[in-house]
Amino acid sequence: MYFAIDDTDSRQGMCTTYVGLKVILKLNELGYDIIGYPRLVRLNPNIPWKTRGNGSVVIRFGFGQGRQIKIGEYNGQDIFGKPRERKKEKTKELEIEDILRDIERYFVLDDRNTNPGAVLTSKKLPEWLYWEGVRDVVSVQEIENVLEQHEAKYKKYKLGRGIIGASCGIAWRAKRKTYELLTYLPEEKFSEARWVDAESVKKMDKQIPSTFDNYDYENNYTAIMPNSRTPVLFGIRGTMPEELIKAKDIVKSTSYEAYLIYETNQGSDDHLKRRKIREIREYTSAIVHGNVTSAPKRLRGGHVIFTIADSTGEIECAAYEPTKKFRDVISKLEIGDEVVVYGGVRKEPLTINIEKINIIKAPPVLKKVSNPVCPLCGRKMESIGRGKGYRCRKCGTRASEADAQYTKIERNIEGFYEVPVIARRHLARPLKIIKN
Ligand SMILES: [Zn+2]
Repeated sequence: MYFAIDDTDSRQGMCTTYVGLKVILKLNELGYDIIGYPRLVRLNPNIPWKTRGNGSVVIRFGFGQGRQIKIGEYNGQDIFGKPRERKKEKTKELEIEDILRDIERYFVLDDRNTNPGAVLTSKKLPEWLYWEGVRDVVSVQEIENVLEQHEAKYKKYKLGRGIIGASCGIAWRAKRKTYELLTYLPEEKFSEARWVDAESVKKMDKQIPSTFDNYDYENNYTAIMPNSRTPVLFGIRGTMPEELIKAKDIVKSTSYEAYLIYETNQGSDDHLKRRKIREIREYTSAIVHGNVTSAPKRLRGGHVIFTIADSTGEIECAAYEPTKKFRDVISKLEIGDEVVVYGGVRKEPLTINIEKINIIKAPPVLKKVSNPVCPLCGRKMESIGRGKGYRCRKCGTRASEADAQYTKIERNIEGFYEVPVIARRHLARPLKIIKN
């Protein structure tokens, strides 16, 4: 069986993964085994009406088989999952309300942008639904049709947009995955100040190399801590779940009452698709191979903008202010450079918000050192106009642009670059993982 939920939190508080913890405790209480790790599935990051991280929580449960694995702790008690579900086991008739009872109080229903939805199904949902959810825009109606075809039970609150994420999350096949261990404060401490020791985070970052995006050394930013006061104290991302448990023990912080390890599509680049410029649409993400057609310009506010073109068209690309030093590399691009740009697409004008760039060819540029010398009278010649060549003032002899003296400047910028940890998107695959 799958139970999934999404869009329960708001920018101000709460967290759908905390609701996931409560659901797991509830399912255990009802006598079910959790199968595998709970899942945190991030969806299209470019959708303007998302709550915060645009992530849904999926819990697989039933009657399990095999040696149990530790997936978390609550009040000093271990929480377990089983690796597999026993075949042909009859799950007793369970209603979605049986799970949601006492859980609804953790939804931020008074926020206009929070529109929770929950789905309960014994049938897997089709994989295309995940790809549509992570790369495109899906409507509530489209989802309801699929849920009805699969005889799934579901519940919508207000606009019920959460059923979109919940359903797309169930459809995820976990082909490319990482893990995140999240720690949770006790309920009475949700709105209180909390601390995580930055030095201990750096120590953990160095000792456990299978973790990523822990600390931004360039901007002195502790990335494992959320920006708002939510039930989450910190979250450590990594590729090996067992190592996350060691990693959390290195971090010094306010005390917490629970932790949970989620299997997730974070760091997968699943949102990105290779596209020709003509095919690019708003609110999607793209990988575009092209050549720089206008030199980077730094705008007021610190954003750096340039354009690229392929055989089908031209599009603007941007490295926004929060990407900090990443903009310095972008600023060094020259017309003609060959690049592959990775990023989400903003509307009006269509702009690729760069997450990563692979600079394939940045050939040396010629910089003029001096004007040509007149072969007849030995005087330095004068420019007639930009790109129009030279003329000797004394005798009138002409020379072309190519006759001037140039020096070759090496660029040394070829290769992959990514935005710093502080500006990283959940779905973006860090170069640290790509390289390993
Ligand atoms: Zn001359």
